Amino acid sequence: MKNKPAYSKDRMHIAVFFLGPLETTCCLVHDDRECIVIDPGGESSQVIMYLKERGLNLTHILCTHLHFDHTMGVQELVEAFGVPVHASEADRYLLQSELGRGGVWGMPLVKSFEFQGIEHGEHSFLDARCDVLPTPGHTPGGLSFYFPGLEAVFAGDTLFYRSIGRSDFPGGNQTVLERSIRERLFSLPENTRVYSGHGPATSIGDERRNNPYVGDFKRF
Ligand SMILES: [Zn+2]
Repeated sequence: MKNKPAYSKDRMHIAVFFLGPLETTCCLVHDDRECIVIDPGGESSQVIMYLKERGLNLTHILCTHLHFDHTMGVQELVEAFGVPVHASEADRYLLQSELGRGGVWGMPLVKSFEFQGIEHGEHSFLDARCDVLPTPGHTPGGLSFYFPGLEAVFAGDTLFYRSIGRSDFPGGNQTVLERSIRERLFSLPENTRVYSGHGPATSIGDERRNNPYVGDFKRF
């Protein structure tokens, strides 16, 4: 899949890369100096080149959850930039299993990395507000990163364009997942752009109306 051009909103930009064997969405959020990366799920040379070309200083790596296809490139970026990694403590146990370490379905192993648990609630990255929303169900510690000023949410494998995340993996729970979407994500403003862990971006309003699993559509 071809990478999409950077999307800008005032001083901030979002660049999207599809990385790794499952084409996981990796997003870079940056201004003209600093950058954070969300879900580096594969070999990171494109990301490193993007940062170097623009002279950007990587400050943090955020993971929506700790499945291998969202973390495969984490350690490579840590080694290149020496930055902290944040994810949910509730997903730490996954790193003991093939779903977190890699190796499942014949996939390569993830290079092990250190991370710090991140609290739910308001944080600040790049001088921009970021609300860390608990959105469990795909994994127990699933997080969504909502940037109100960017009108964007990075939702990992919770909500997809016209679909929802899988809840059949160990630790998944469909009822919990649907509640996360209805109560956390669907309470965000309609025009919020949703960057999902796989596939095209969408919006909160669009999925609220048209998502066949959790949208208004389901009432008919
Ligand atoms: Zn996943």
